[in-house]
Amino acid sequence: MTGEKASRSILQCPKCGFKVTERLPPARGPKQCGCVACGETLKAQTCCVFCEFGSEPCRANRSQ
Ligand SMILES: [Zn+2]
Ligand SMILES: [Zn+2]
Repeated sequence: MTGEKASRSILQCPKCGFKVTERLPPARGPKQCGCVACGETLKAQTCCVFCEFGSEPCRANRSQ
């Protein structure tokens, strides 16, 4: 069952490099989230944490 190409995004912590796969929300993602490995708070300066730290941007930015 593959084919949903961009339904998930791999968030990478800029501090420790820990990667976590998160399911993309239907619209804009959160502005910040915590790293489960080092406790660093990932704060997005732009749209959201997916656009800033993720392998795939959130769906709010995909249509452009
Ligand atoms: Zn981290
Ligand atoms: Zn975004």
